[in-house]
Amino acid sequence: MKPAEKLLVDLGIADPQDIDLPAIALCVGAEVHYRRLVDCEAQIIGFRERAVIYVDDRVTKPRRRFSTGHELGHWYHDRGSSFVCRSDDIGKPIDERSKNAERVADAYAGDLILPPFMITPRLATLGDITLEGIAALSHDFSTSLTATAIRVIRMTRQPCVLVAQDLGGRRWQWPSIVCGTLKVRDDIDLRSSAATSLAGANKIGPARKEPAHYWFDRRHIEQFDVRVQSVRTSEGEALTLLRILDERMIEIYG
Ligand SMILES: [Zn+2]
Repeated sequence: MKPAEKLLVDLGIADPQDIDLPAIALCVGAEVHYRRLVDCEAQIIGFRERAVIYVDDRVTKPRRRFSTGHELGHWYHDRGSSFVCRSDDIGKPIDERSKNAERVADAYAGDLILPPFMITPRLATLGDITLEGIAALSHDFSTSLTATAIRVIRMTRQPCVLVAQDLGGRRWQWPSIVCGTLKVRDDIDLRSSAATSLAGANKIGPARKEPAHYWFDRRHIEQFDVRVQSVRTSEGEALTLLRILDERMIEIYG
């Protein structure tokens, strides 16, 4: 069990609605205040065993939760220290294995606000993952769609890839564990669901079958189809859940 999960268990927290971050912070010696900040999104001022965390009150509630968890991550890993975190420092879904202090704090935040031990039983009842299922989880946990989707893709054994794109192309991708090193194209295909989502409203689109070459730039991949579902997120990116329909695709290209 990860340190953030262990903290929840030690505090007897078993339900998402009980993950009250300011209350949890107090239990580890940190006070949380939401207020207007200049030049950063969140910060922690630590000294010995006590700390004060400030988080900008202008960001959305899910983002505020993630940022608070991020600062608690700094506190767990570098107790007694202070950090000033810009919005670029917080919640970057790349470099999973990075030991950079910001990424380590992000990982702690993810484990605290979307603890695997609470997600596992819910994933089991979800069946095939869909964006609607992820949205329902994000509602239960008061987390952003993106943070929730990353948690789900990291835990599932379904053959899916999570992709974030803007008109400039791929921002990041996260394949599930069974997809090997399958890598989506750098650019965005304007015929894809993702491009449609970018042009439309922030509503989850229907799941659609699309030719795999809209998504992958590999020899002979046009013989395969994939199932995709996209939504434009509050960050202005198209977030796509892509499902591999034929496991031979992973055998050949993964
Ligand atoms: Zn930070």
